[in-house]
Order: sequence, then C-alpha cells, then structure tokens
Amino acid sequence: MSRFVYADNAATTKMDKDVFEIMIKSLEEDYGNPSSIYKKGRDAKVLIEKARKQVADGIGAKESEIIFTSGGSESDNYAIKGIAKAKANKGKHIISSKIEHHAVLHTLEALSKEGYEITYLDVLENGIIDIEELKKAIREDTILITIMFANNEIGTIQPVEEIGKIARENKIIFHTDAVQAVGHVKVDVNEMNIDMLSMSAHKFGGPKGVGALYIKSGIKPENFIFGGAQERGKRAGTENTASIIAMGAAIEKITSEMEKNTIKVQAMRDKLIDTILEKIPYTRLNGDREKRLPGNVNISFRFIEGESLLLMLDLKGICASSGSACTSGSLDPSHVLLSIGLPHEIAHGSLRLSINHENTMEDVEYILEVLPQVVERLREMSPLYDEINKKG
Ligand SMILES: *Cc1c(COP(=O)(O)O)cnc(C)c1O
Repeated sequence: MSRFVYADNAATTKMDKDVFEIMIKSLEEDYGNPSSIYKKGRDAKVLIEKARKQVADGIGAKESEIIFTSGGSESDNYAIKGIAKAKANKGKHIISSKIEHHAVLHTLEALSKEGYEITYLDVLENGIIDIEELKKAIREDTILITIMFANNEIGTIQPVEEIGKIARENKIIFHTDAVQAVGHVKVDVNEMNIDMLSMSAHKFGGPKGVGALYIKSGIKPENFIFGGAQERGKRAGTENTASIIAMGAAIEKITSEMEKNTIKVQAMRDKLIDTILEKIPYTRLNGDREKRLPGNVNISFRFIEGESLLLMLDLKGICASSGSACTSGSLDPSHVLLSIGLPHEIAHGSLRLSINHENTMEDVEYILEVLPQVVERLREMSPLYDEINKKG
C-alpha cells in the first residue's frame, strides 16, 4: 500500500485550507494600495491592522510592536544588523550560538567582516546552551544576544526566559529566532523577557514570503529596507496585503488550536521516536527528549547516508529531510549535528521527520512500515555494516 506523507513541516507547511480561502479572496478584492486616501486603499489598511493585532496577540505583544517583513530570513537580518548598527557606539560584541539557522549565522559572519566580534556559544550534547557559558561570555561591549527559540533540525527548545532575564539584568538586547516555535509552542514575549523576535508565516500554515519582526517598544534598530513610509517608517515597500492578512488568520487559528494540536502531534512524534529506536538497531535520537518541539523527530542511522535514505523514502511517497533545506545540495554535514558532538559519518546518516496536526496516525504507521525496510536495504549495501554483522 502506497501513500503520500508530507513529513517536512520544519522546511515549510502546506497552507491551512481556511487560510488559503481567505488569501485567495484577499488577492482578488484587497488590491487597493494601503497608503492611498480612497476607500479601496483604506479598507486594505484596516485589514492589515487587524492582521497586526492577530500576530501581536499570538505572542503577547502590542500591535505597535509588530513589523511585517518578507519572512524569517529578513526578520533575522533586520534585527541583528539593525541593532549592530544602532548600538555600534556602545560596542561591537554579539553573543549567539553554534546551532543557529543560517539566516542568523551568515548575517553574523557578514558583521564580523565589518569589525563586529561574535561569540558563538557551544551547546551541550542535548542541543541546549549552557547558561553559565552565556553569563561568562557577557562583556562591557556586548550589545546583542541572539539565540534561537527552537532549533529547526533537532527541535531543541532553549531556556529562552532565562536567557532573556540574563540579557535584561545586563542591559543587553535579546533577539530570538522563533520561526520554529510560533504556532507550535507557547510564546509570550513579556513573560519570556524577549526584546525582538522573528517569525515566518509559512512555518505555521500561512503563505511563503511573509513574516514579522517583533520589536519591543523603546528599542530602535536601524532600518533594514529604506524607501516609503510603510510600517510606520520602519520597513519600506508596498504591503504584501493578501499574505499579511493570511498570516494573521494563520497565527490566530493555530494558536487557538495549539493545545489540541500539541496532544495529537506529540503522540505521533513519540510513537515515531520510540518505535524507530526500538525496532531499528544502531540508531540514536538527536536533541533533547523532553525540551523538544512537538513535531520534531531527528534520528541518526549508522552505516547509511541520509541522502540515499531521503531518495528511497521519496520513492515511497514520504517527504523528509536530512537536515535543514539549506544543507541539502552541500556535502558538509549539518553544523547543528556536529555541534552536538556527532562524528561526521553519523551526522551524515541523519533523518529529520517533522510532522504537524495535518498528519495522521496512518501517516505515522506508514512511515514505520517503510522506514525499517529502507534502512535495512541501504545497510545491506554497506561494507561497514556487513563487517559488524559478521562479528556480531
Ligand atoms: C525557516 C526558518 C528561517 C527562515 O525563514 P524564511 O521565512 O524561510 O526566510 C529562519 N529561521 C529558522 C529557525 C527557520 O526554521
């Protein structure tokens, strides 16, 4: 029995059906330029402001603290470069971690070429930073701490509230890339002491190419995109009206259903993890077992290549990933898997299954039927596995 199973929701999600309907309608009707004087434009503006409220409510912020962007990457770039430039007179030291998304890491690399100094914190074997290391890394000239909320590869959730508390005690701005967290785990910028937060609609049932940056009132990063006065002068460019409206609808829907979704998704995740580890020998779970996104499964299979595994799963109708989308196409193993201490050959044999509430137990059962067979076939072709088996 063949089946199509989409299990790569950390790369992107299918649009929610209701959200899709709202967006189609909006594309057709809300075409007025929101900066215009006439009603067609003003109506679009009203809908954008409604979406801003929905996004703000989703993370416990105020409407005035939300800026719409083109997605997670732009939000990360805006936050990090914006603070680096605005605070350059105070200092040029930034603290981050080794397991950030490339939207953060490559932005920091660009800044380091401009004279900024970056401390990349190590993570422990479970993928979580060591708070003591963070405290030790803080200096007089530290202007920004940017540490992700939840990791896109291994699903690990950082102690965000504690990081924020330390940042605040030291009067350092705290930005978090929460692209994987929003809509999937509880996020409250006030309770969690977050000053700036990046999110992206296509990771929670919204369209691609739209996101938001939360900027706590009083914090003033330098602008990233200059031009017209849209977004109160903080982000130029004619608003992506239909996408923004869809993003608002998507975050409202997914946060209102979070509790129900979490129970369902976690049960599927746990079944996947427990069964794979039990049924397939020479496997290990990557990332913390508990402090983990509800839909993340990341497992290393010794003696096989992640890429071959993905191709075989694709033939069986299963979409998965062997790391982040950006690392496929490159031969280097994922920086995240190396950072948690995996040797190269084991990192290479890793599989990420990221499920969400649109998946079903039947999907899980199908994966659990196909995966052991595929792994066994690939291992049969591995000379290393052959040797181990003979010895065994
Ligand atoms: C997907 C993702 C991004 C990039 O978001 P885009 O909207 O695709 O630009 C950034 N950070 C993390 C953690 C992500 O998972």
